[in-house]
Amino acid sequence: MKNFYNMATRNNNLGTETAFTVLAKANKLASEGKNIINLGIGQPDFQTPEHIVEAGIKALKDGHHGYTQSIGMPILREAVSDDINRRHNVKISPDNIIIVPGGKVIIFFSAMLMGEKNKEILYPNPGFPIYESAINYSGAKAIPYELSENKGFSFSADDILKKITQNTTLIIINSPANPTGGVVPKFELEKLAKGLEKFPNIVLMSDEIYDQFCFGDNKFTSMLEFSEIRDRLIILNGWSKTYAMTGWRLGYGIFPKKLYEVAEKLAVNIHSCVNACAQYAAIEALNGPQDCVEEMNQTFKKRAILMFSKLNEVKGFNCQKPNGAFYCFPNIRGTNKSSIEIQNLLLDKIGVATVAGTSFGKFGEGFIRLSCANSDDAIEEAISRIKSIF
Ligand code: PLP
Repeated sequence: MKNFYNMATRNNNLGTETAFTVLAKANKLASEGKNIINLGIGQPDFQTPEHIVEAGIKALKDGHHGYTQSIGMPILREAVSDDINRRHNVKISPDNIIIVPGGKVIIFFSAMLMGEKNKEILYPNPGFPIYESAINYSGAKAIPYELSENKGFSFSADDILKKITQNTTLIIINSPANPTGGVVPKFELEKLAKGLEKFPNIVLMSDEIYDQFCFGDNKFTSMLEFSEIRDRLIILNGWSKTYAMTGWRLGYGIFPKKLYEVAEKLAVNIHSCVNACAQYAAIEALNGPQDCVEEMNQTFKKRAILMFSKLNEVKGFNCQKPNGAFYCFPNIRGTNKSSIEIQNLLLDKIGVATVAGTSFGKFGEGFIRLSCANSDDAIEEAISRIKSIF
């Protein structure tokens, strides 16, 4: 990156989310009249359910136009606390919950809280690219742990624990995972929580944004279930994926008491609060009917199975069955092309937008990510186009 003016050099450490770059390119090609199938971006292709939209509109009409508490409205934090209790049978005080403009904010908060020069932060690779970017920006050293295909894109607690040094301050985990669709079994999570008992100053950040999209043999387990780690556990979650609300910019974090005050200060300094009407919509999402979530879960499951089996018909591709989230992450080494070559070839030659595995870290080489957030017809058409060139 060029250093214009005397811009602070830490900005050179910022990474990005290539899915947005692919989206911009795919939209440009579509606006030029090309027939593009977008399997690049990770957002549900559903509309936000009507009753949630209505709650947002009502809030605007009722005059909720001002600032709210920067940690989020008390009734919304209570709704989050009730939702956690309902789903995980765990009591979390609303005073540990902070509402933020998108789950992503919690990644940045965690990196800012725990990262600086001479500290180390462990993160999954391939993984959501903002982990590595935020760690690097904080000045800490980003230490990847590999999610490998031969372990079903899960991790082993021992592999993570082995990477801990006296400089480790934070460990990031994500299950169900982007981009791999991997889901970590409960016994590994339990082993990690137990193993961390020996390291009382290490904080764990569990990104559980895909918690409701879990359809394989391994059921979803929240790290909230392990009380031994609760006093230094940060949870990232939100409404973007569960309720198809990516554009509303809504998420939440659960922070242990000792970190909460600083997280609140970060919120005050950065965004003041989440817009009020979105918070009212969020209350309706949690307290209203939940069939929309189950319907989406079933649809993504069906599409993931369709997509992974069709991908295995492509010469040079080898795809594992995803267990959650809404992505397939096929191994494309049999094509003798790199991930980025495949990403460009598919978009430029046959109009299929995907994301190179290397966008999710160095261990993503040899893979591409395809999102199931498109119709069955679009998925079938995209894969038959891919088949036609290999
Ligand atoms: N965490 C993971 C693993 C994600 O895939 C995403 C979005 O794609 C986020 C966090 C951020 O979600 P939000 O849109 O709520 O900021």
